[in-house]
Amino acid sequence: MRLITLIACTFLFNSCASIFTGTNSEVHSSIFQTQEYFSAGSHSEKEKGTTEIFQINLWNIVDTIKPVMISNEQVATLLKDLNQAFGQADIGFELLSAQNIYDNYYTYEDLVADNYKYYYEDLVSNNTPDVIDLYLVDHAESLCYNDGRVRGCRKGHGFTMTGGWISSIVLAKEDINEKKIPIHEFGHFFNLEHTHADYEKQVSSAECKTTGDYLCDTPPDPGAAAYGAMVNFTDCEMYGAYDEDGIAFKPIINNYMGYYPPCYMKEYIFTEGQINRMKSFVQNEKRRTFVNGSL
Ligand SMILES: [Zn+2]
Repeated sequence: MRLITLIACTFLFNSCASIFTGTNSEVHSSIFQTQEYFSAGSHSEKEKGTTEIFQINLWNIVDTIKPVMISNEQVATLLKDLNQAFGQADIGFELLSAQNIYDNYYTYEDLVADNYKYYYEDLVSNNTPDVIDLYLVDHAESLCYNDGRVRGCRKGHGFTMTGGWISSIVLAKEDINEKKIPIHEFGHFFNLEHTHADYEKQVSSAECKTTGDYLCDTPPDPGAAAYGAMVNFTDCEMYGAYDEDGIAFKPIINNYMGYYPPCYMKEYIFTEGQINRMKSFVQNEKRRTFVNGSL
């Protein structure tokens, strides 16, 4: 029995992170191919290093009556964004096949219902061994409302498993080129927590290695849900929010693993701590042993 943490994200109301711990008997893992590389292009040669290449099997879960398809350009952009963001952690991705059609139709909402019942029973149980199965889904139409005065939608964006031995990630089709969203979900896949995870503990105990997101270079983040209004998105700083000791909160607003909207002048980033956490996760002995045992 392996402990697996499932992380679900709903960005719109910043209520991401329904986290539960569960078990699963049949599990698969991502393939590890060690590849020596040099930087491509005309720049001066980069230091020689190793990168772990993860193959992605892309599934489009379609309603056969009115299928929503993904263009090759969208897929290419997604791959480019992922490789750019994770390259700094020596993680690379390649597409194993063109878009596969998955015609047992589930919407995002179907998959998260009943504690991810269909996700486990259908998708996970059919995961392709040794690759990341990336499932692209539609939202249920009934999610959006318009009562004449107010309209809106409550939508989740994606979820995945940290642990990585079950190698699948679910993303809403409409978000696949929202750059931050796929990168955020893949960040979870490679063992990153939200910057606002249990931030109170990080504040009170200062035990940054053992609480919150387990990283010391991501300052306590009180979260965009309650404190988003305190952010100046021009200089990308939070102002006027203090912890119980009167110390100003200064979260990294432009971090991939937070919930803040983009700053005007700053790209999203991973910190060095996050990059190292992903690297050590990929190289983790327990994971390695499992992967080697399953190949
Ligand atoms: Zn998340």
